Amino acid sequence: MSKKTFNPIRAIVDSMRVEPNPKKPMISLSIGDPTVFRNLPTDDEVTRAVKEALDSGRYNGYAPSVGYQSCREVVAASYSCPEAPLKAQDVILTSGCSQAIELALAVLANPGQNILVPRPGFSLYKTLALSLGIEVKFYNLLPEKSWEIDLKHLESLVDEKTACLIVNNPSNPCGSVFSKSHLQKILAVASRQCIPILADEIYGDMVFADWKYEPIAALSTSVPILSCGGLAKRWLVPGWRMGWILVHDRRDIFGNEIRDGLLRLSQRILGPCTLVQGALEHIMRHTPAEFYHNTLSFLKANADLCYTALCAVPGLRPIRPAGAMYLMCDRV
Ligand SMILES: *Cc1c(COP(=O)(O)O)cnc(C)c1O
Repeated sequence: MSKKTFNPIRAIVDSMRVEPNPKKPMISLSIGDPTVFRNLPTDDEVTRAVKEALDSGRYNGYAPSVGYQSCREVVAASYSCPEAPLKAQDVILTSGCSQAIELALAVLANPGQNILVPRPGFSLYKTLALSLGIEVKFYNLLPEKSWEIDLKHLESLVDEKTACLIVNNPSNPCGSVFSKSHLQKILAVASRQCIPILADEIYGDMVFADWKYEPIAALSTSVPILSCGGLAKRWLVPGWRMGWILVHDRRDIFGNEIRDGLLRLSQRILGPCTLVQGALEHIMRHTPAEFYHNTLSFLKANADLCYTALCAVPGLRPIRPAGAMYLMCDRV
């Protein structure tokens, strides 16, 4: 398994020994970690919640492998909407969104099956899939359509071994946000081809003013969806390693097989950190709205700055981001 495991980002970042030019301040653009420059701190309420959890002495032990019931309830309540209701039993807490994606892939696909993955896209999907013996097929995103999915190309890749479709919205590394109608077209492909969706929605709600984020599960009653998320990006604490899977399966297509499978996989190692679970309810309920708002204004101002600067670079065509923390260029 180790020989099948290669994470291109960590391989670069963990072994990077760059001698900076002493005459120039270095701006490292190599990794999506909002804490590196200390200019995007989390909110005081968030840190206070963890301090209180620590001082209480109640969160030093083992929690259930899928997380405390009260935490699952609070996550369910936070992400529930009338079109896609969630209960505590639909939530599995994990060690970051990465473990959520790993469990979701492992439960949806058998070795030898394949998954459909965006290009350009987040490299972890391929890393995890290959180490699990799952094949990866890349579908194209279209720069001229603000990185929407090339739906024809997507559908042409489906075969009898296709086990799931990964949709990452808002996107790393494109900074794109899919419209409702585009998401509906993606769902139509999944429905027609009978493939479940693994939705990587770690940047959910991180969209700039004038754009709207739609959780994909809210737009379908039939396609079964595992939505993966976490605290890392919206609350700016990737090191705290808290993520979740939201199981959306209103037609009971996954049935018990997927839910029991996720439970068993969660029991391999205890993923979700108990201490952060102790803070989760406070974080979800009491992070002030201005914090989210200020983070997004800051990200938007920086996105605009990068966009304008990159427009002046011959050979590059930046696509203006609509959310998340990234900007992707096309070639001219
Ligand atoms: C950062 C990121 C993740 C991983 O999140 P963690 O909670 O740090 O594991 C997953 N998907 C995308 C698209 C990301 O950018």
